[in-house]
Amino acid sequence: MKTDLKISFEFFPPKNLKMHQDLWETLNKLKIFYPDFVSITYGAGGSTRKRTHDTIKKFTYRPSIRPIPHLTCIGDTRNSIKKLATNYWKMGIKSIVVIRGDSENIKLTKKSKFVTYPNGYKYASELISDLRKIRDFEIIVGVFPEQHPESKDIKEDIENLKRKIDLGASKGITQFFFDNNKFYEFINIIEKKNIKIPIIPGILPIINFNKLNKLAENCNASIPKKITNLYKNKREYEYELSVNIATKQCEDLIKNGFKNLHFYTLNRSDLTGKICSNLTKKKLIKKPYDAFWT
Ligand code: FAD
Repeated sequence: MKTDLKISFEFFPPKNLKMHQDLWETLNKLKIFYPDFVSITYGAGGSTRKRTHDTIKKFTYRPSIRPIPHLTCIGDTRNSIKKLATNYWKMGIKSIVVIRGDSENIKLTKKSKFVTYPNGYKYASELISDLRKIRDFEIIVGVFPEQHPESKDIKEDIENLKRKIDLGASKGITQFFFDNNKFYEFINIIEKKNIKIPIIPGILPIINFNKLNKLAENCNASIPKKITNLYKNKREYEYELSVNIATKQCEDLIKNGFKNLHFYTLNRSDLTGKICSNLTKKKLIKKPYDAFWT
């Protein structure tokens, strides 16, 4: 089956040996879908600097996987962050997801103030500017289809995205969303502003609907009534419902011409694997090289 759809997976760096083993197991189950890359987050508050680096290093030993670290402005000096980036380049890492980062346990609002570390970066754009001076990294940035919670309006977000593109960002990954129409509206707006970089939709399979509301609210991701009602009146297991919802969301994105999908796996293979398997059966993504999910 020929398809030009590219998928990617996001993981967080494991905290302990058990989580480490779980991550490799997850990866082994998901890598059969030929991910274009896997990205490794940088924990809130800058808490996982070493763990992100060490996980990326381990991924570099697997030639079939392209690891991309997230790098944030948080909890470190400019010099220290630049050193880390230079080290990534030496390890063969050519792409970075460049993000401002968030402080731990903070609810983002228009009034929340990001606390800059002494001699640190304030905005993702400042970090992009320095990274591009260090090496010719491919820079991937965060995009917010329903507006970043701190921005006063969508115009501010678009100006910020433009600024990052002018400094060298060449791809965006979105915050997760559940309402494709809102995403398409956003894409229309940015295209009118002549923003042409590929924007990769970020897909979050719903693990636990009851816990989703708080997270979605903090991230400005609206949950359509239709989805809330499906969980309220569910007739199937929550797992099946979540898989069906995300599969439909992906199908619609693919039909509307989006050629990349980024899955927020939360280090679990079950939901993302089943969604990818469904897309395979519908011949929307490349057939896995192993029969694990079929
Ligand atoms: P920025 O681009 O710096 O923008 C933040 C806010 O400041 C926006 O409101 C913007 O409009 C405003 N702003 C930016 N520049 C200026 C300026 N020059 N003047 C005035 N205002 C300005 N968090 C983590 O902690 N670790 C991760 O690994 C991580 N990965 C992520 C991956 C993706 C794909 C996404 C979408 C988010 C991720 N996050 C992560 C969350 C992210 O840190 C938060 O969403 C953060 O609040 C914003 O990051 P940003 O890069 O968009 O920030």
